[in-house]
Amino acid sequence: MSSVRYELRGHTALITLDNPPVNGLGAALRSGIMQALDQALADAAVQAIVITGSERAFSGGADVKEFGTPLATQEPRLPAVIAALEGAAKPVIAAISGVCMGGGLELALGAHYRVARADAQLALPEVKLGLMPGAGGTQRLPRAIGLQAALEMIVTGATAKAAKFQGSALLDAIAEGDSVAAALELAHRIVTQGLPRKRLRDITISDPGAQAALQAMRESVAKTSRFLPAPGKCIDAVEMCLTTPFDEALARERETFLALLGSPEARALRHIFTAERAASKVPGIPEGTALRPIARVGVIGAGTMGAGIAMNFLSAGIPVVLLEMKQEALDRGVATIRRNYEGTVKKGRLTNAQLEANMERLTPTLAYDGLRDVDLVIEAVFENLEVKRQVFTTLDDTCKPGAILASNTSYLNIDSIAGFTRRPQDVLGLHFFSPANVMRLLEVVRGAKTAPDVLATCMALAKKIGKMAIVSGVCDGFIGNRMLARYNAAVAGLIAAGASPQQLDGALQAFGMAMGPCRVGDLAGLDIGWATRKRRAEEAGVPFVPIIADKLCEAGRFGQKTGAGWYRYEAGSREPIPDPVTQQIIDAYRAERGIVPREVSDAEIVERCMFALANEGARILEEGIAARASDIDLVYLNGYGFPRHRGGPMFNATLVGLPEVVKALQRFAAEPGADAFWQPAPLLLKLAAEGKGFS
Ligand code: NAD
Repeated sequence: MSSVRYELRGHTALITLDNPPVNGLGAALRSGIMQALDQALADAAVQAIVITGSERAFSGGADVKEFGTPLATQEPRLPAVIAALEGAAKPVIAAISGVCMGGGLELALGAHYRVARADAQLALPEVKLGLMPGAGGTQRLPRAIGLQAALEMIVTGATAKAAKFQGSALLDAIAEGDSVAAALELAHRIVTQGLPRKRLRDITISDPGAQAALQAMRESVAKTSRFLPAPGKCIDAVEMCLTTPFDEALARERETFLALLGSPEARALRHIFTAERAASKVPGIPEGTALRPIARVGVIGAGTMGAGIAMNFLSAGIPVVLLEMKQEALDRGVATIRRNYEGTVKKGRLTNAQLEANMERLTPTLAYDGLRDVDLVIEAVFENLEVKRQVFTTLDDTCKPGAILASNTSYLNIDSIAGFTRRPQDVLGLHFFSPANVMRLLEVVRGAKTAPDVLATCMALAKKIGKMAIVSGVCDGFIGNRMLARYNAAVAGLIAAGASPQQLDGALQAFGMAMGPCRVGDLAGLDIGWATRKRRAEEAGVPFVPIIADKLCEAGRFGQKTGAGWYRYEAGSREPIPDPVTQQIIDAYRAERGIVPREVSDAEIVERCMFALANEGARILEEGIAARASDIDLVYLNGYGFPRHRGGPMFNATLVGLPEVVKALQRFAAEPGADAFWQPAPLLLKLAAEGKGFS
């Protein structure tokens, strides 16, 4: 009973959950509660029972570490513990402070009375892990706070403060101070006044608006959670409160919960949950590394990226000096920032006062002098090594010692850039994604000489500005764009072979990608890849051989910005319209190479594109560019519109089965004229042979 403390307070037994940090309801804690309850019930001197947790947590719910292990299903399971509380012959009062979530809230809902501190945080967040409450939450919470409020909480997983529920059947008292003292007092009152043991299950819901609310939620979920079964199942479960006898509803809730638990979607979301916690642990950086203070930031270049990058810091309350070459470009950048903030004000997510405060933190300048006292500079000028050299030598001469010098380059070598300065230890890549004020991903590129505290400082700063930071080593394109090159090569091959842009986009969007590759190309500008491929050919000293996307560029079709790319666009519209001109360019390309177009299936499209990603990911892992496969997944999930329910390209490959992936890659590699990148990576072969996955 080590996870539970048991004491007597007069005639009340006090059961305290003691499984730090958040009283995760692991097997030991569950059985501890049962034993303590039995002890209290067996003791004739005990008249009431108070169950509580710590200041920090009543209970944060299931112990995620036990998921997928035998401990998760070891008896007693949570529903049995809750049934024991609810069925106890003596009144049970839950005293709640801190977090009370998931199984923790379900446990509290099984008590006869509940007392909570006003600031306790209540939620049933299971849906965020692709699950639904599986221990009565979908049946008891609606009875406690009303069907509509519960529906909202269960389907969104949102957290609410206890104070919000004052007056509902959820809480019998709100404690301003110590919830245990308040619960003991209530226990005394219950016993002396002979108050009944109240069970939420005995409440009947009557809500004339219930059906309409359920319907509205179904419509909203159909739009926002197309690929995830859990939100819909949550709605079905809540509906049972109106239609189904309590015990039958509990059994069905549990059954659906267990089915969801093993679903690929829930496994993917659990993978993301652990991946996000792992990403901040960077090999070679001791915990507790002293960070450099970042009170002022400089941004060089106020173009597409510079303006967005600056906004991240302004919004986080950090002053920014924004430097440009020409007044006109500077004015344009400042205007872009203001316009973006105005858009947020219009949406009601920012006040005018906040907008003005953000703008006040911005110092536009044309002179490097303004950068003398900044703690971090992020360069976002043209993607040209010579221009970067000029900027970094000037920064080296200007910035104070210890200032961190970062480049937002997409492809250039960070070590070369660091070499332009006398302080390579202070240089690293901070690769934001467009639009930089919106996209969550930040690749933090560690140069050969980047100091550990520089890296640690930038990881902490990323968190402060709301980014998901992933450390990458130096290579062409870092993690994300290096893999993207393979994905796009697969796309190019598929179009050459016989697929149309529409079919490609359709197949990958049906797989779950936020946007198909041809639409992405048109949005980002096909000229960027064209320039990169030309540069690579030049660097490699080989002749440049255009692919179909380059043929589109040669015809002046750069995408949305020129009104046509893979698709054509009406003026002022972003709606892609299939274009016979594109088809002619594709046909001409095929004819030139003697390619006879063939049927390409949607399944083949998905296979080739996904396995090209996973295979390059394996090389990236092998080379130590990424520390772990889950980091690669996070790059794709947060920067490339990869569907969360698939868990990322590496997790997806693991789910498919690495031997399957290897077999397919070997098939593609054996085709006449196949690109060398289809050869399975040695790490992939090794893991497949060992029967392992990537994680
Ligand atoms: P951009 O052309 O929109 O902006 C570049 C800005 O830098 C221009 O306003 C230009 O006037 C200014 N500039 C050029 N030389 C300068 C100098 N010496 N001093 C001061 N200002 C100077 O380009 P962008 O798309 O914002 O890209 C900037 C960098 O970010 C590039 O390295 C690019 O590879 C990288 N990047 C771009 C994207 C993207 O999607 N656009 C995404 C990630 C990274």
